[in-house]
Amino acid sequence: MSDCIFCKIINNEIPSTRVYEDEFVIGFKDLNPLAKEHYLFIHRDHSENINDITDSDPAQLSDVFKAISKFTKDSGLASTGFRVVTNQGVDGGQTVFHTHFHVLGGEKLAGFGS
Ligand code: AMP
Ligand code: ZN
Repeated sequence: MSDCIFCKIINNEIPSTRVYEDEFVIGFKDLNPLAKEHYLFIHRDHSENINDITDSDPAQLSDVFKAISKFTKDSGLASTGFRVVTNQGVDGGQTVFHTHFHVLGGEKLAGFGS
């Protein structure tokens, strides 16, 4: 999608710090980290949100989660633990409308909702 900032990151039209890439998925550092380690994992194919990707091509979800699994094992994050978050819509706090999964860790995260 031409006006999507994450598609532009995929196409190297705007810079990012990539931490992972394969045929289907890229992972990069979040610009405004909410934890010591905060990455975003996205499929190279554009979809708008978690419901859209599930309805249009659910296999893309396993592409993304396989990438997160590989990255967190290779980087050591899996040994201390991490959290995966996805936001949909206004109440969910979604600000970028290319489906993305926040991977947070590198420190003990506050309890959910606290
Ligand atoms: P969300 O609010 O769930 O839609 O998350 C969007 C995330 O994208 C936020 O955490 C932003 O900090 C992050 N973000 C926005 N623009 C960029 C960018 N150019 N590079 C890296 N992260 C970005
Ligand atoms: Zn996009």
